[in-house]
Amino acid sequence: MNIQNNISLAPYTTFKIGGPAKHFVEIENVNDVSLAVNFAKANSLSTLILGGGANMLVNDNGFDGLVIHLKNKGIEKIDETDMDIIFKIAAGEIWDDVVSYFVKNNWWGVENLSHIPGLVGSLPIQNVGAYGQQTSEILQTVDAYDTKTDSFVVLSNQDCGFSYRKSIFNSTEKGRYVVLFVTLKLSKIPKPNIKYIDVGKYFVERNIQNPTIEQIRDAIISIRDKKYPFPTVSIGGNAGSFFKNLNLNQSEYDTLKQNIEKNFSPEVVDRLTKIKDKFPQPTGIKIPTAFLIEICGLKGASVGGAKINENQPLVIINSTGTATASDVLELFNKVKNEALRETGMTLVNEPELIGF
Ligand code: NAP
Repeated sequence: MNIQNNISLAPYTTFKIGGPAKHFVEIENVNDVSLAVNFAKANSLSTLILGGGANMLVNDNGFDGLVIHLKNKGIEKIDETDMDIIFKIAAGEIWDDVVSYFVKNNWWGVENLSHIPGLVGSLPIQNVGAYGQQTSEILQTVDAYDTKTDSFVVLSNQDCGFSYRKSIFNSTEKGRYVVLFVTLKLSKIPKPNIKYIDVGKYFVERNIQNPTIEQIRDAIISIRDKKYPFPTVSIGGNAGSFFKNLNLNQSEYDTLKQNIEKNFSPEVVDRLTKIKDKFPQPTGIKIPTAFLIEICGLKGASVGGAKINENQPLVIINSTGTATASDVLELFNKVKNEALRETGMTLVNEPELIGF
């Protein structure tokens, strides 16, 4: 195990922003995780588990602890029937390469999760989902290192406590486990999922009735890249959605409606009603935060090198390549304050804020 000092974190994040880690270690052999964690404990250091750095904003002053960067590799088939095939995948694998491999082999279940940046280990953390597929539907188990008991454990799907964008890893047991492997079950029987409006429209426009898995991956990439620039092909680094979507109860929705009626035109009120009725949820009223940012006139707003993406205002882009974490936070607060004043809603950041 080679512990390095004073390593810049910017290149390890998809935002391309952030100061140095005081200590930094790369893990290729998972047994070293226990050594790294115990080094941190012995030196009273806080730890940061770093995968693809796709969902974080690192302070310009860096992180005053030990960064543990997972780099283990491997995709191992562990079971197969006529219907399904199960793989154990190392946390350090690049997620989109794994999706591409499954799609090429006609194994269904993750094609709608194409072009999501980051490594495999981050999948269970926020139960990554997009276009009607989510991690919890295909995940069998998670192999992890439990820093509380200093032991290697295997957690079942149920143990992970999954719900919408949530698991024990980002809520009740935050910071406890280091995810080392995930086991996913893919279907050998075609299961096209094209119910999302943008996806359905893509195929109608091309007059394709029964898309192949490759065509679905192509569709998702084409739709997604316009809104969420994929870090490896775009100039502007970013951390995906910087703002969480809203899930409101009736009284919160009433507050939003009253504010919109007071501060916006009848057309905007009409749009709100349509959005409310678009995706009825048993658990609440889904309101895309992008709608609020747009009506507040903040698409394209910028502070320093940080900019609200025109095509998907949930995304903050490092548009110059030289944005600082303070630029991003100042822009976030500007949007948050304006949205609160005009709509009464409190916007919440999705990426982890590291070292703040
Ligand atoms: P979008 O497709 O324009 O959808 C905006 C909102 O409407 C989302 O809350 C989405 O729900 C909901 N929605 C759309 N079609 C729906 C349907 N048929 N049934 C139920 N709900 C529906 O969103 P976008 O910004 O372009 O993002 C595309 C996809 O990537 C979305 O699924 C989004 O959630 C996902 N994404 C996920 C993450 C993450 O896991 N952290 C980050 C960025 C984007 P859902 O959110 O449930 O899809």
